[in-house]
Amino acid sequence: MSREDFEDEELLIAGQQGVLAGDGFQHMETIQSKVTPGPNGQPSPGYTFELHCINCSTKNGVMVSWLELVDLSAGAIPMDPDLRRPWLLNDRKATPPCSCGRCGKALAVYMTPDEAQRYVRTGIQIGAIQEALVMQRVHAIRNQQAAAYGQRR
Ligand SMILES: [Zn+2]
Repeated sequence: MSREDFEDEELLIAGQQGVLAGDGFQHMETIQSKVTPGPNGQPSPGYTFELHCINCSTKNGVMVSWLELVDLSAGAIPMDPDLRRPWLLNDRKATPPCSCGRCGKALAVYMTPDEAQRYVRTGIQIGAIQEALVMQRVHAIRNQQAAAYGQRR
């Protein structure tokens, strides 16, 4: 674990304590994340985020594919492969365009590129996604970004 990671974790813990102690707790959505197991021992297709709908309280599981996480980690806006719609942005965070399975209300699974990068690292560690593939894709995104930047000037 690098020093940087350690500092991040401390910040996270401090933030959680702040939430628990403050008035905002009731409004704070607790999102749990876990690696989705693939069928028959196949590599996991992505990360699942579990959260309760703010409208009907139904527990939803939102699966985010590794490639979406790779795209976000590189600073690109991911495209939801099932809905064929881009992720939604709010400030510097993004959420897949997902909705509650019961009432249809939009679900917010916001994450930053840094957080996505951490999930991608987990995917590489458990062998669900190849580091070479990640590097290739990040490289392609960076090239696109550089080209777009060049065109604007
Ligand atoms: Zn709902």
